[in-house]
Amino acid sequence: MRRKFVAGNWKMNGSLAANAALLSQIQSAIQLPMQSKTPAVSVQADCDIAVCVPAPYLAQCQALLAGGPIALGGQDVSAQTAGAFTGDTAASMLHELGCAYVIVGHSERRAGYAETNAQVAQKALQALAAGLTPIICVGETLAQREAGQTNAIVGTQLAALLDVLPADQVGKLVVAYEPVWAIGTGKTATPEMAQEVHAMLRAMLVARHAQQGMTVRILYGGSMKPENAAELMAMADIDGGLIGGAALKAADFLAIIAAASAVTK
Ligand code: PEP
Repeated sequence: MRRKFVAGNWKMNGSLAANAALLSQIQSAIQLPMQSKTPAVSVQADCDIAVCVPAPYLAQCQALLAGGPIALGGQDVSAQTAGAFTGDTAASMLHELGCAYVIVGHSERRAGYAETNAQVAQKALQALAAGLTPIICVGETLAQREAGQTNAIVGTQLAALLDVLPADQVGKLVVAYEPVWAIGTGKTATPEMAQEVHAMLRAMLVARHAQQGMTVRILYGGSMKPENAAELMAMADIDGGLIGGAALKAADFLAIIAAASAVTK
C-alpha cells in the first residue's frame, strides 16, 4: 500500500511573520500516531506531509520545521548543476537547506516560463542526483481536455522524463496530476475524472517498470480542499494531494491531512 502524501505549494506567498504563524498553527495541531499528549486543536496525521515554500524562505522554514513531521520542499530547481545561471537555484542548494522534495514542471512554470518537457525532465534528474524527490507535475489545459487530448498530453509529459530516467530511480519519483483548468480556479476534477488519468499514468509507469511503477505516488492537484479531499483520495490511484490555496490556511491544510490519514483502501 502506498502511504498518502499531502504537499502544500505556497507559490509566491508569505512573509517571515506569516510563515511563522502558519507553520506554528499547523505544527501545534498535528498529532502523530502513538503520541500521548493531545494538543488543543488536534489532527491525527498518518501520512507524509511537506510544504514547498518560496526559495527566500527555505532557511527560515528549515529552522521552523526541524525535528517535526513536516518535510520541506522547493518549488522549482535549475536544470543545471552550477555556474552562470543568474536567478536559478541548484538542487544541491535546496538539499543543503534541508529540502527533501522539489516541485518540477508546475503548469505555472510551463506556461509562464515556456518550460519544455525536456527541461522539466532535466530538472527532475538534477533533483534526484542531489538526493531530492522531484514532484513532477503533469496536466492538460481546458482546450486540450475538450479536444480529447488529455491522455496524450499528460502521457507525453510523463514519458519525457521516463525516457531519460535510469530504471533504479523510478521508485523515487512523485507524480502530480494537475489539470491546468482546475488550478486556483475552484473547479475540481471529479474523483472519477481524476482517477481515469491517474490510472492511465499508473499503467504507463507499470508498463515500463512493473514493480517500481506500483510504488510511485500519484498526487492530485487542482482546487483540492477539505470538502473534496476525502472522496478524491479514496480513489484507487490517488495517493494524496498537491495543495495550493488551501495550504495557506492552517485549518484547511490540517483538514486535508486528516482526510488523507483517514483513508483506507
Ligand atoms: C497548485 O498550485 O499546485 C494547486 C493545486 O493550486 P490550487 O490548490 O490552489 O488549485
